[in-house]
Amino acid sequence: MDKEALIQAIRDAGVVGQGGAGFPAHVKYDVGVETVIANGCECEPLLHTDQHVMRTEAREIVRALREVVTATGAARGVVGIKRKYAAVAEAFTQAFAEPGPGSGVPLELFQMDNFYPAGDEQILVHEVTGRTIPPLGLPKDVGALVANVGTLYAVSRAMDGEPVTHKLLTVTGEVARPAILRVPIGTTIAECVAHCGGATVEDPVFLLGGPMMGRFADTPEAMASTLVTKTSGGVIVLERGHHLHRSATLPVREMQRRAAVACIQCRACTDLCPRHLIGHGFETHKVMRAFGGGTDAAMGALQAWMCCECGVCELFSCPMSLSPRRINALLKQEFRRAGAQYSGPREVLPAQADLRPFRKIPVPRLAHRLDIDRYMDIHPEFQGDYAPGSVRIPLQQHIGAPAVATVKAGDAVKAGARIGAIPEGKLGAAVHASISGTVAEVDDCITIKGD
Ligand code: SF4
Ligand code: SF4
Repeated sequence: MDKEALIQAIRDAGVVGQGGAGFPAHVKYDVGVETVIANGCECEPLLHTDQHVMRTEAREIVRALREVVTATGAARGVVGIKRKYAAVAEAFTQAFAEPGPGSGVPLELFQMDNFYPAGDEQILVHEVTGRTIPPLGLPKDVGALVANVGTLYAVSRAMDGEPVTHKLLTVTGEVARPAILRVPIGTTIAECVAHCGGATVEDPVFLLGGPMMGRFADTPEAMASTLVTKTSGGVIVLERGHHLHRSATLPVREMQRRAAVACIQCRACTDLCPRHLIGHGFETHKVMRAFGGGTDAAMGALQAWMCCECGVCELFSCPMSLSPRRINALLKQEFRRAGAQYSGPREVLPAQADLRPFRKIPVPRLAHRLDIDRYMDIHPEFQGDYAPGSVRIPLQQHIGAPAVATVKAGDAVKAGARIGAIPEGKLGAAVHASISGTVAEVDDCITIKGD
């Protein structure tokens, strides 16, 4: 497949980055780089979705990786995984050896320790290439492209004309039968949990995504209406008031009060910050100092832009249980509203990286700190497809403009048909029917009642 045909196939299939915020893949992959890295690190504790797709679909992932390496003119493709994934390593070793189109493309396996956040794009690039992406930069700035393994699987399907209609989802935590499910996009998370036997605690909340970077659905409305999208990776059911829930729902005024009275400026948040440790001149304890002095003072803390919101500072480092990550996120929202950009230095400070080998966060210790170690021995098995009676497919599941509906209420649609198109001249991604049925409603989602 030539580059143009590959990019078009990815665009037609509505493939977006599955490991992050959903950047449209047909734009991201249309670059020239030296190294393409398949990200199979799945660094969030408790999620098993990427491990499953790597164990079962390594050939498809390798097929797509070879095509992307060729299309981007890269010299090599690297699959980054954790060393402890023995079965995954075996699956890739076999897939690398298989003949077929692109079998001459140099591919290698890169195995990492079990630390957090191994799967962060900037950390992975640093590990694999030894180079640091400058603050607020992109992997292509150092000649790299990072693609999540789930995204590459979707690319392989797109090469055969299959659009993105389903998602693999880990359902775990306080649930009767933890599982990995394959579900149509637009299914409610609540149905997925019910399909796994329901919650095992009286007053559950849903943590969407991983325990470090996920967000909570904790009102009856949010829990009933939250949907599986192209970027969903898992749901962790927890008891309301769990340590992670309390930390995520602390009111802003209380965060500010605590920052003012309890931040001892010990620097632990800075010294263990993964971005600081790859050489970014980012010192989050200074942001805390500014925030504690009031929001106006915090406007001077523009270096909050450099925070990737990995959560290490507030869920692992801070001895005072303060919230540097949430404060950085809040400040970024305010800067966005005010149109305030970071204009400080963007050089890389290599000396900061000297301490990095000794400051990686081991996942078992992290799990203990998060009070989730009792779920760490759950290894959910794949339980097949779940088929809901209806779906509500969001027109926006990606970075960019929402898709424009190409169907109306009353239309009959087949699974896989395009129902939302990229607006003319905009960044976006197409969306497709995930089940066959009749369109019941079109608003910011397209509701389909199944046949
Ligand atoms: S680790 Fe906590 S107490 Fe120490 S400087 Fe950072 S926010 Fe303040
Ligand atoms: S969340 Fe905390 S540890 Fe992570 S990048 Fe931001 S400041 Fe650093």
